Amino acid sequence: MSRPRAERTLLKDHWVVDPVSRRAGVATIEVHSGKVARLEWRDGVVEARRAFIEGAEPGPKDPKRLVLPALVDLHAHFRQPGAGASEDVASGEAAAAHGGYGAVALMPNSEPAADHPALLRELTRTTAPRGVTLMPIAAATLGRAGRTLAPMAELAAAGAVAFSDDGNPIADPALFRSALITAGALDLPLIEHCEDPALTQGGEAADGLVATALGLRPWPAAGEISAVARNIALLRDAIRDEPRARLHLTHLSTDAALDAVRAARAEGLPITCDITPHHLSLTDAWIAGDQRWAWEYSEQHQASLTPTADAYNTNLRVCPPLRDASDAAACRAALRDGTASAIATDHAPHSREKKEVEFGLAANGIAGIETALSTLLAAHAAGEFPLSLVAALLTTGPAAVLNQPALARGLAVGGPANLVVADLSATWVPSRKTLIGRSINTPLLGKTLTGAVLLTLLNGEVAWKAE
Ligand SMILES: [Zn+2]
Repeated sequence: MSRPRAERTLLKDHWVVDPVSRRAGVATIEVHSGKVARLEWRDGVVEARRAFIEGAEPGPKDPKRLVLPALVDLHAHFRQPGAGASEDVASGEAAAAHGGYGAVALMPNSEPAADHPALLRELTRTTAPRGVTLMPIAAATLGRAGRTLAPMAELAAAGAVAFSDDGNPIADPALFRSALITAGALDLPLIEHCEDPALTQGGEAADGLVATALGLRPWPAAGEISAVARNIALLRDAIRDEPRARLHLTHLSTDAALDAVRAARAEGLPITCDITPHHLSLTDAWIAGDQRWAWEYSEQHQASLTPTADAYNTNLRVCPPLRDASDAAACRAALRDGTASAIATDHAPHSREKKEVEFGLAANGIAGIETALSTLLAAHAAGEFPLSLVAALLTTGPAAVLNQPALARGLAVGGPANLVVADLSATWVPSRKTLIGRSINTPLLGKTLTGAVLLTLLNGEVAWKAE
């Protein structure tokens, strides 16, 4: 596509939140020649700083148009090469722009796996027509098979921003330790999907009341916790050999695993973790057809376990599985207290063939890059997160995990105009019509979401604009 030139864009009196300069409030932004040419805070800079720190929200008379720096995703699957029927770089990039994203790190779960420098170069050479920055995460082991380390130095030279065998946790502890040390020596993080397959084999839903009521094979919380505990122990050991080793645990989903990370961080270990939009906002009760946000449960109002006509929706099959309201609450608490520092979409598009099957046979994954911001804004509207935290978790947080400060330059005057404008009061319904990714495997289909992306500008040009 050829992008319409937006020589000059004026965003007058919007609610602007910039986690880089740590300012928030009503401001006017002028974009000119691809850059932020002017940024004026209505109540002055000092007040904007105070508003950010205090988590100020737009009042009844304030504008409902929100401006954030363009979002950063540290974990997405664009399925190229290998599964173009589900997604490719072009369709994934379009979906990202619709979601308000300006930079996306791509997991190496392609076919073949991204374990070869030529494949990474191919990916970075693929020009993203909408201007989204695409960053390859390279496989940590050849073929993501967990037997031999990938040529990590060459992969780093070819542009890898991290290493991961996502989906295939590195089972061999010695190999995991070597991967941590080698990645650390290259000053790159190792990103690990924490799962012990000996405990989770065949698991279809979180071990608990919903799985029992629906007759689904259980995926126990221990399957995540034991892997997290082992990986922390190996990190503690590895940093004695390579102090630059860094471990990032992706899509954590259980209270106990997050507690382990909290303790490891308190100990000073170089460990970070992220949470997906779905694990903080949905519960396993959705599989029974009870479609409430996770924060809508109270002691008095527990999940309904009687399957409705919407039960067994395979768009809810995801790994790790959706859990109960208390684990989802623990995910949100971890984001609030800094234990988890980023939202990662784990955008995992799957074609209809892979989802229109029996629940236990469906491919794992949710296509979530187009609904992440709306989901976070729903949590914000429910009082779960201030906008200043939402902004940080979607921009500076993931950029810091990837050690890519250039991705999070905020809204500084003279800097590139990479920003997203959302309407906090507008509603939209995810559907085949409104989603633009190739696959629409999201459980949010048909649900009315409040907070819609109106405009994504990348280097001042329109990457996505609502009609
Ligand atoms: Zn994963």
